[in-house]
Amino acid sequence: MIKYKLICKNCDFSFDSWFASSKEYEKLKIKNFLNCHKCNSQNVEKTLMAPKLININSTNSLEKKKIRLNEIKDKIREYQKFIKNNFDYVGENFAYEARSLHYDKKNKKKGIYGTATKNEITELKAEGVEAEVIPWIENKSN
Ligand SMILES: [Zn+2]
Repeated sequence: MIKYKLICKNCDFSFDSWFASSKEYEKLKIKNFLNCHKCNSQNVEKTLMAPKLININSTNSLEKKKIRLNEIKDKIREYQKFIKNNFDYVGENFAYEARSLHYDKKNKKKGIYGTATKNEITELKAEGVEAEVIPWIENKSN
């Protein structure tokens, strides 16, 4: 048995109907044996997929992906929390501050974090300044 969601093109009414097989559906359709339950029109089509049939696999893997993504987000948030507690936020001055940390040995700052462009990071690395790029989640994405 197979369940199709049928839709009436005449009145937009949709309803579920059971068939022995997809072939049986085609047969009934050709013979105009399919009627809208509401207005009795024969202008009835099946919608692309039977909901009973799609659910099984796609939902599961989607669900799993969601869980994995949340786990990663949790890790990143933990990391962010650590950085926020132990490092000084310098915003867009990151490249400047990173250099002053690197070249000014008297600078006793423990560590900094902030934003930098790709170019700035390439330059910093070329100069031997330690910088790590990490993914960052804005809190509003919760
Ligand atoms: Zn109808």
